[in-house]
Amino acid sequence: MDKRISYKDINELPEVALSTGSTKVLKTGSWKNLKPVIEDKAAPCSKACPLGTKIPQYFFYIIEKNLDRAADILLEKNPFPAITGRVCPAFCQIGCNRKRFDERISIRELERFVGDYILNRGYKIKEIPSDTGKKILVIGSGPAGMAASYFLRIKGHSVTIYERESLPGGVLRYGIPSYRLPKDILDREFDMLYKMGIKIETNKALGKDFSIDELRDKFDAIFIAIGAWVEKKMKIEGEDLMLSGLHFLKEVNEGKDISKFIGKKVACIGGGNVAMDVVRTLKRIKANPEILYRRTEAEMPALEEEREKAKSDGIPFHLLVLPIKAQKKNDKIVLTLQKMQLGEPDSSGRRRPIPIEGAVYEEEYDFVIKAIGEEADRSALPSEYLGDDGWPFADKKTGAMKVKGVFAGGDFIQGPSTVVEAESWAQKAAESIDRFLKGEDINVREAPPKTVSFMLINTDYFNKEKAVHPFELSVEERIQTFDEEVKTLQEEMAIKEAKRCFSCGYCNSCGNCFVYCPDMSILWKDNRPSVDYDFCKGCGICAKECPRGIIQMV
Ligand SMILES: Cc1cc2nc3c(=O)[nH]c(=O)nc-3n(C[C@H](O)[C@H](O)[C@H](O)COP(=O)(O)OP(=O)(O)OC[C@H]3O[C@@H](n4cnc5c(N)ncnc54)[C@H](O)[C@@H]3O)c2cc1C
Ligand code: SF4
Ligand code: SF4
Ligand code: SF4
Repeated sequence: MDKRISYKDINELPEVALSTGSTKVLKTGSWKNLKPVIEDKAAPCSKACPLGTKIPQYFFYIIEKNLDRAADILLEKNPFPAITGRVCPAFCQIGCNRKRFDERISIRELERFVGDYILNRGYKIKEIPSDTGKKILVIGSGPAGMAASYFLRIKGHSVTIYERESLPGGVLRYGIPSYRLPKDILDREFDMLYKMGIKIETNKALGKDFSIDELRDKFDAIFIAIGAWVEKKMKIEGEDLMLSGLHFLKEVNEGKDISKFIGKKVACIGGGNVAMDVVRTLKRIKANPEILYRRTEAEMPALEEEREKAKSDGIPFHLLVLPIKAQKKNDKIVLTLQKMQLGEPDSSGRRRPIPIEGAVYEEEYDFVIKAIGEEADRSALPSEYLGDDGWPFADKKTGAMKVKGVFAGGDFIQGPSTVVEAESWAQKAAESIDRFLKGEDINVREAPPKTVSFMLINTDYFNKEKAVHPFELSVEERIQTFDEEVKTLQEEMAIKEAKRCFSCGYCNSCGNCFVYCPDMSILWKDNRPSVDYDFCKGCGICAKECPRGIIQMV
């Protein structure tokens, strides 16, 4: 929208009084009963990100083409932006103010753009403070363990990781298929950690090769993040004829021979992300997968994005069906399927599936894979580490377990969740461990800043514009390959998208308050505004004209 008034020549300009003297002779400040306060606040996207990523702050440097500075800001909160920039569900985007104006900002794609810039440039290793002399053991090298190692190392502690598998990464390596997350991305992001001096010992499993109590004296603190790898049971006859979804994905990611599935009819039981990855992987190896799920699509726990992709890959979804029996007949597995209907909501808030009496039928498959959820291996720890409900317990705010000096997080405590939430457990546990080692109260946390709502954004300063989206392989192309299906934004696309951001709550020195103040009471120093209260009349124009909600009248 254009609000400018144009004059053809100087004679059309209205007469105005001009003074060559300084207005500073008249102190007018005492007139006001409200005063403007200039204060950066949290953008709702940053607040919604479990890591508190400083989103408008690093976007500012994308626009400035200072990607080194953008990288530094991003790495403060998230050591693995090239990973989360690919697989994060992007909680930040749900909170984005811009979606109430036209379309949300493609925050995850911008994160990936800077993450890939860091990988291509080579990591500039963060300066590590001098060694604190404290030794920390991290058990498990998924995103929680790796992120905790990073956050602890940058505080100057020495970190060793023990990992059960022969390679690090957890679900990132052995679960998520490479068409969504190529393995060289994690190898290159993890390389930074080794260059920082973090050590890893693989093929070392808690509960098998060592016990927690034998190591408590050798380390000053321990962080346990061994994930949730135990497949839940359906508790039905013939369950042992079924394969495990996570195990299947692990075999694919390890490069094992899976040619037995080619051309075969495969049922995948479940509606979560693992189920979507299983069927989309099967499609790529020319099998004929189908989803069997006991509720409707609206209750599916899988991300909408992944569900939509599975459907457009051409995978049938059989909804409101529950397998109640599996039997072997010749070379086939026959599933007995019970038709379901939805009842009242259960404890998860989703409507409970109820069997329709007598609606039972049989269906024949070559293979049946179940992906109905995973849980923590509670046998890995002695009982004093478990909560009252018998599951591993750590405090949500601090990550502290019941045993002093031992902390835990990620899927091991929360159950199957997301990469960014696992990293967030690492972030808070690292803060607590650092405080614990210094003998400080581990519960202390900075108060969160106020958030800028859409109502505080002055949208007069923005034009409606469509969001920039990354290039993706077509359906026909993607179902033939394990190559990455979504591409990284080009620099000009990234700058264009970063420019759409309102920069909610973060002053990007646009100068509007300075220009519009009728009393010249906004001072401008080091490219930042401040208020000269001796002259400010409290008219509120600066607050009204600030496009991003930085100034409030109080
Ligand atoms: C197939 C699949 C797809 C997913 N897709 C996404 C996605 O797209 N986006 C998203 O955000 N999240 C996704 N998730 C969830 C996400 O990957 C997890 O929430 C996250 O990896 C949890 O991190 P973690 O470090 O707690 O555990 P894990 O990643 O499970 O890592 C645990 C590590 O501990 C090791 N370990 C286990 N037992 C022992 C032991 N006894 N001793 C020593 N080491 C041990 C494991 O080998 C592993 O390396 C997906 C999950 C699955 C299963
Ligand atoms: S980590 Fe995820 S939620 Fe956080 S800013 Fe990145 S994409 Fe958004
Ligand atoms: S407009 Fe920008 S700063 Fe505001 S919520 Fe969206 S991404 Fe964050
Ligand atoms: S526009 Fe100027 S005079 Fe008015 S409240 Fe702001 S600083 Fe004070």
